[in-house]
Amino acid sequence: MLSAVALPLPRRRLLTAVVGAAAGVGLAGATWTATRHRRGATTAAERSPGSTTRPVGSTVPRAPLSGRVIGLDPGHNGLNWEHTAYIDELVWNGREQETCDTTGTQDGNGYTEAEFAFNVAQYLAASLRAEGATVVLTRTTNTGFGPCITERASIINNAGADVAISIHADGGPETGRGFSILEPVASGVNDDVIGASQALGARVRSALLDETPMPLSNYYGVDGIVARDDLGGLNLTTVPKVMVECGNMPNPTDAALLADPGFQQQVAGALATAVKAFLTSSDTTGATTATTLVRA
Ligand SMILES: [Zn+2]
Repeated sequence: MLSAVALPLPRRRLLTAVVGAAAGVGLAGATWTATRHRRGATTAAERSPGSTTRPVGSTVPRAPLSGRVIGLDPGHNGLNWEHTAYIDELVWNGREQETCDTTGTQDGNGYTEAEFAFNVAQYLAASLRAEGATVVLTRTTNTGFGPCITERASIINNAGADVAISIHADGGPETGRGFSILEPVASGVNDDVIGASQALGARVRSALLDETPMPLSNYYGVDGIVARDDLGGLNLTTVPKVMVECGNMPNPTDAALLADPGFQQQVAGALATAVKAFLTSSDTTGATTATTLVRA
């Protein structure tokens, strides 16, 4: 959810969310172990170039995302709600003042957007790293607060990322369903990446439709695309980037999907597909249908 208003979350619900976040970390940790093991095996093989199974000079298949840097920004953070002075601080977002961050939204059971976004980012990071990418995350736990939107942009810019995705879920009307993709508008700082970000948005939209049961938003944007000029995360990022509202947490049907680890892995898989397609396509500057400016 990307509103300018921070909504304090009830303590009882947040305690549940924190416990859930800890479980998510454990889940991601298991994935990490598998990834490290695989990467370690590759390294060992490379130390034995003279073995009979792989003669010197043989061609080793290159990991498809080797050499690529991908920025992942899981929206909000698990304890933003108890650090209101920090997240309510006003920062310059490239056009105007905006709060440093917000708490994000939650579903009717108290499952938080922050935890959803964190879990998807963990699955996605593991997938991209397994294919050789360097992944830079704007936060690595769901048990802290921040960083500010300005710092999130800096982390991705300073890493020299080739592409970036910010992961969110919306807090729209209870009757509304579906995902939407927020794309940047030229703000000066980001002028060079508008077309590329729109091309990335088209890839993300296609992949989410192909690989997940979540429909296009029926209440926000045009065909799931929304141009936003009021978000520091888009205004200040100098690499191709979109923000994805993966579903609408107040809607019970969407909420059931968003809280489901299986769906979270589907979203991660779709975003991996989109990133790979974007990075391996020569058409990374083409515009999509993002021609309308909708402010919310
Ligand atoms: Zn959000």
